[in-house]
Amino acid sequence: MYDFIRYRLVPPVFLVVFTGLVQVLTLYGRGRIVTLEAIASGFRGNAESWTLVSLFIVWAFIWLKIPGQTTKGPPSPTGFVPVYKDNGLSYYFATMAGVLALELTTSFQPSSRIYELMPQILGTLNVIALTLCFYLFLCPSDDPEGDSGLPGLYVFYRGRNFHPTILGVDVKQLTNCRIGLMAWQVLVWAFFMVSIDRNGFSLAAFTTFVLQTAYLIKFFYWEGGYFHTIDIILDRAGYYICWGCLVWVPCFYTFTSYYLVHNEPVMGNAAAACILAVGLASIYLNYTVDAQKQEFRESEGKCKIWGRPAEYITAFYVDHSGAKRKSLLLTSGFWGEARHLNYDFELALTLCWCLPGWGLGPGPFFYFIFLFGLLVHRVFRDEEKCKQKYGLYFDVYCKVVPYRMIPGIF
Ligand code: NDP
Repeated sequence: MYDFIRYRLVPPVFLVVFTGLVQVLTLYGRGRIVTLEAIASGFRGNAESWTLVSLFIVWAFIWLKIPGQTTKGPPSPTGFVPVYKDNGLSYYFATMAGVLALELTTSFQPSSRIYELMPQILGTLNVIALTLCFYLFLCPSDDPEGDSGLPGLYVFYRGRNFHPTILGVDVKQLTNCRIGLMAWQVLVWAFFMVSIDRNGFSLAAFTTFVLQTAYLIKFFYWEGGYFHTIDIILDRAGYYICWGCLVWVPCFYTFTSYYLVHNEPVMGNAAAACILAVGLASIYLNYTVDAQKQEFRESEGKCKIWGRPAEYITAFYVDHSGAKRKSLLLTSGFWGEARHLNYDFELALTLCWCLPGWGLGPGPFFYFIFLFGLLVHRVFRDEEKCKQKYGLYFDVYCKVVPYRMIPGIF
């Protein structure tokens, strides 16, 4: 039953539902009536949306071609060691400087044009993302065994290769980090500007904007750490991750900000200020948990965690070539309290940027509800992956750190 749902049911259902849902959400978020005609009108985009999206993609691509520092990711299950461009923060600030310059010095106001064109922009991104996924599906596999016996649609959905490249650029760095996450930032900035134009300044809308901005700056600062996360080490480049980052992130992750343009926040300043403070603390804690693991791994366990030598389990596993390898699993600090405390702080932060939409219906909370499901599911996906990799060593680790997300409860 589980296999049927996973391999046969989820791919076609998700493909149809999520691809179409994007257009439905853009209409709903701006108070339009959702009709088939309205959905279809955004689907192919228009000349302006194609121009804006193409320029944005070319800009992202150029930044991955600029000569400069690179960083290596962990070897894939097939033994390939990916090399990434290490200029995320410069790319972030250069992009935002360019967008702000356009806003302040030209008559073309990107913020209001972007807001007006959202259905077409998402339609354009949809066409590009689906074309890319189809191309990736047709590429030869670097792990033919990984596809054997699986339905074609599932391979399209999951992806075929771990680290495919296009013209020498790593596809996942381009789609996830450079297009998806930067589009997220540009969009929430645009929606905040338009909300000021329409509704005046509101601390509630500002809170939603600032928390996402701080989170995204943190992301680009920490981009090298992202290459060690399960998006990169476990997920192959296919519909799930590439379409997800090219279309779902710009549409859905930005949805609270988008919604607050048409639906003026009703939350008072004192509540918004408290939420802002809790949200900033959550970003800091989420970063600290991830950084603790990163420092531990980089120092090969020779570091102090909360002032004491790191405690850990030495786990052995057999890699793709049959060689026996060693890995360390941290069992002190945040990582001794629960196996995924980073997800708790991520969820707390997300709740904080959704709460300013309190009193405006369920729309502002869609993202939080979605992320809750995604991260709980991810806990189990990661568990399956670690169990497969470390076997009995992972069982020992789970005995030492028995809780998944909430110490003492789950
Ligand atoms: P983790 O950062 O928890 O990484 C999991 C991997 O880390 C495991 O597969 C394992 O890899 C290694 N690991 C697990 N436990 C330990 C340990 N005790 N000591 C050392 N290594 C360990 O998960 P994610 O990659 O999912 O998340 C990274 C960040 O991204 C988080 O902050 C998360 O909140 C955020 N995120 C955000 C999402 C969003 O959509 N907003 C979605 C998903 C994540 P191995 O041993 O093989 O190296």
